[in-house]
Amino acid sequence: MSTTKVAIAGSSGSIGTQTLDVVRAEPERFEVVGLGVSSSIDVLIEQAREFRPKVVAVADAKKRADVAAALPFATVVEDLSHLVDDADVVVNAVVGFAGLPVTLRTLSAGRRLALANKESLIAAGPVVQPLRSTPGAELVPVDSEHCAVHQCLRSTVRPGVEVSRIVLTASGGPFRGRTAAELADVTVEQALAHPTWSMGPKITIDSSTLMNKGLEVIEAHELFGVSYDQIEVVVHPQSVVHSMVEFTDGCTMAQLSLPDMRLPIGYALAYPERIGTPYGRIDWAQLSRLDFAPPDTATFRCLALAYVAGRSGGTAPAFLSAANEVAVEAFLAGRLRWPDIAAVIERSLDAHEQHRGTITSDDVIAADAAGRRAARHILETR
Ligand code: MG
Repeated sequence: MSTTKVAIAGSSGSIGTQTLDVVRAEPERFEVVGLGVSSSIDVLIEQAREFRPKVVAVADAKKRADVAAALPFATVVEDLSHLVDDADVVVNAVVGFAGLPVTLRTLSAGRRLALANKESLIAAGPVVQPLRSTPGAELVPVDSEHCAVHQCLRSTVRPGVEVSRIVLTASGGPFRGRTAAELADVTVEQALAHPTWSMGPKITIDSSTLMNKGLEVIEAHELFGVSYDQIEVVVHPQSVVHSMVEFTDGCTMAQLSLPDMRLPIGYALAYPERIGTPYGRIDWAQLSRLDFAPPDTATFRCLALAYVAGRSGGTAPAFLSAANEVAVEAFLAGRLRWPDIAAVIERSLDAHEQHRGTITSDDVIAADAAGRRAARHILETR
């Protein structure tokens, strides 16, 4: 077996460190050739000393000299997208819209993109889609739900014709079952206490508002080419069924496993093969029940807002995602109440002007900036 050369953009975060766990477990299969961070250089230096990548990227210019001094064996670059050059698979685990250049460069270079940075596909779908047909380019999602759908779709040879519905499961987050009144004054700590998944703060807050699921609906639309009418969300608190695909004959395929992100990471790294390391096995004797319920979109408004932006298409998802980033930052900083995250996003969307004609990278960047501006304006003038 030849080794797969792996580069990780965003190696210090939750997905980045779990990717290195997967690599560490199967050193004969995977080799780390590049690691990149925005500014967490202590973590980067420790990782690089263990995995010895040829290239490390540090976005923060002030910290680059320290990294170069600590890692004499590696070339230090500023642009995380330069990690693509030597890699067979690039894991894009950059947080937020800043991950777009890594997505664009990986696909343009005809490499496999293991995409954990869902924002780059959601916000820049119209720019990313054409690059997927670059020879050699491949997009494998590192998101448990989309990894599940990707696996379920392997049971048909005509996905464009035979898929009738995609059902994304949602754990419901820490506030599942709560009423709007009960959620008026929840704290940052409560919102960060996710029942099943351990993730970074931004995505954990998104999970508490169901914006994460809303963004995943848009992500599913972009990844699998299904219409919004064919994408449903169901709340499933056990997080064992990671998503499902229903086919035209009424048959539903589901992917089940314990909730551990190293499974979708390993799937994306090894695809079309499978890694030999199980990150947990289902104990059927212990798993007494699996529950499913419709989401409460009146209380969790963000899910409904994402459908609105997704159906609007064009630059609306970019605008939505940007406004959400600003609102979540304000909540994390203690400047916004939890229910007002959705309120700020909803009011921001009123300011979105749909782009006409072909959408370029610059149009997406402009829509992202406009979304941030609109949300900041609302925050400042409340
Ligand atoms: Mg997910």
